[in-house]
Amino acid sequence: MTNTSTYTAPLPDPADPLTGPHWAAARDQRLAVQRCTSCGALRWQPATICPECLTTGGEWTDLAGTGTVWSYTVYHRAMNPAFADQVPYAVAMIELDEGIRMIGMLTGTDIAIGDPVRAVYDPVTDDVTLIRWERVDAT
Ligand SMILES: [Zn+2]
Repeated sequence: MTNTSTYTAPLPDPADPLTGPHWAAARDQRLAVQRCTSCGALRWQPATICPECLTTGGEWTDLAGTGTVWSYTVYHRAMNPAFADQVPYAVAMIELDEGIRMIGMLTGTDIAIGDPVRAVYDPVTDDVTLIRWERVDAT
């Protein structure tokens, strides 16, 4: 998808102790989030404490990588110059089938609220694979 030798936009730190397991899973083409070991709540963004029951810690679990568009916007002007070569692009709030929501970039701009989407994995560098969202009926 993306030319890995020329990707210059900001990237996550795959060595970050809090988010690193998510990025390691993405490299393996899996969508992983934290699950509370006490109450079972899934959470995104990663956190050291469960926002539902305040238990510290948690475990990583793989999700299906499917959901629907809950909201979205299409950027026609890059708010960060690093994304200038990617406009127009769409960013959406995805409601995952497991019930939590996650923000991500879509693979196209032909999108509507309620559209079914799936995660696709874009290895933008040797160390970082970003997760994009693609309409399920897209070809
Ligand atoms: Zn909990």
